[in-house]
Amino acid sequence: MTETSIRTRFAPSPTGMFHVGGARSALFNWAMAQQSPGGRMVLRVEDTDEARNKPEWTDGIVRAMSWLGIHTDDPAFEGPYFQSDYAGKHRETAEELHAKGRAYYCDCSGEQVQARRDNPNLGYDGFCRDRGLEPGPGRALRFRVPEGGPTVVEDRIRGRVEFDHASIEDFVIVRSNGSPLFVLANVVDDVEMDITHVVRGEEHLSNTPKQQLLWEALGLRAPVWAHLPVIVNEQRKKLSKRRDKVALESYQEEGYLPEAMVNYLMLLGWAPGDDREIMPWTQMVPLFDIADVNSSSAFFDEKKLRAFNGDYIRSLELADFIERCEPWLTAGEAPWPAENFDREVFARVAPLAQSRVAVLADIVPNVDFLFLDEPETDDKSWKKAMKPGIGVPMLEAALERFSDEGLSWDTDTLKAVTEEAGAGLGLKLGKAQAPVRVAVTGRTVGLPLFESLELLGRERTVARVVAALEKARAEEAAEAASET
Ligand code: GLU
Repeated sequence: MTETSIRTRFAPSPTGMFHVGGARSALFNWAMAQQSPGGRMVLRVEDTDEARNKPEWTDGIVRAMSWLGIHTDDPAFEGPYFQSDYAGKHRETAEELHAKGRAYYCDCSGEQVQARRDNPNLGYDGFCRDRGLEPGPGRALRFRVPEGGPTVVEDRIRGRVEFDHASIEDFVIVRSNGSPLFVLANVVDDVEMDITHVVRGEEHLSNTPKQQLLWEALGLRAPVWAHLPVIVNEQRKKLSKRRDKVALESYQEEGYLPEAMVNYLMLLGWAPGDDREIMPWTQMVPLFDIADVNSSSAFFDEKKLRAFNGDYIRSLELADFIERCEPWLTAGEAPWPAENFDREVFARVAPLAQSRVAVLADIVPNVDFLFLDEPETDDKSWKKAMKPGIGVPMLEAALERFSDEGLSWDTDTLKAVTEEAGAGLGLKLGKAQAPVRVAVTGRTVGLPLFESLELLGRERTVARVVAALEKARAEEAAEAASET
């Protein structure tokens, strides 16, 4: 580590999913580590809560980070470390603070404290400060908040934030059962890991004066602090896992590209300037400055993210696009029988689809008509396209032409004969192609129709038109019967 190298850290508490807010924190920390010569970002899994200590959750964190492009083998990456491995150090530091007189043991129960105070908001009253209690069962260790104050936190994003000591009680650093509290463990680990910059969510700002006091009590200079703005939904409410889609994994499953996601997350509170928005990671890193991050809440605009993703998808090389679609096409969830999938046919349809999908999962409804035995017909589309007097005659006219063995089965010819069939019924091409589209693909919207028919081939197209015609005729007959 050189004098100027910075050491940031990303310190998630495992929860079984990777929150988009966590992803943004990781990226900001990662940008800072990457732009500093010799800089590092430490991954520290804060796993001291027993219920959170599941190895698969840690794997999930590493996997999600690597999806975002933060790889454990990158020279700027360090870890993962586990908070639980530092338990000895947490205890030792607590003892050190006690020995220095900066912390004291307390045997007050919550009820006792409350009974002594008329205002429960005031917190602990310092009853045990000078009782000189030795450690023992049922005794918690409290930090002795210095008289006077205030503690001033110089936050890189928010500027100077003052905390009056009257509002900071002598807080517990080790519970009466011997387990250290977050405020202590988090500081001890940051000390051990030589962290120079703490960049984390705004919800931790209230812990910061306590943590800064701990650094000072240990005779150390506190790190640079930066608290990132809260992320809100459309109703301007803080993103919550009950209400909002917050798991990075959900976006991954829908087919957001990691590079689009990274780009979008970087803009939650920061911007590269000059109204630029779409920018690859490598160009953002040298421009990123934590001091430029905005302190006001950042709106997570899923629509905008989707639009970003569409842009990123359109700019992929075709071969890359095809490869990235693969998981949606060949995984068990694809709606067609696996053996129906044909890579060559997909490679031909892919250029038509690439400009139309905003997320990769959208590829499936766009191309399913090619791989399903029968198209999945959407009722609303069917009703709309098969209006009486249009559906049946149009399908009949199209069928007559499509089944002509001499017809060249190509896009231009198919368009010409459909247009001609429509003209015979007084229909413009737009109207005329709707029944054909629904018969063949099951929907009223989709890829360009005549290219689709060419790809599907004569035999299957004709079979679908025949089947649709039968269905439409049967419906008309039923309708007529009910009217008489
Ligand atoms: N484990 C804490 C959290 O996930 C991180 C705190 C920090 O970054 O200091 O909120």
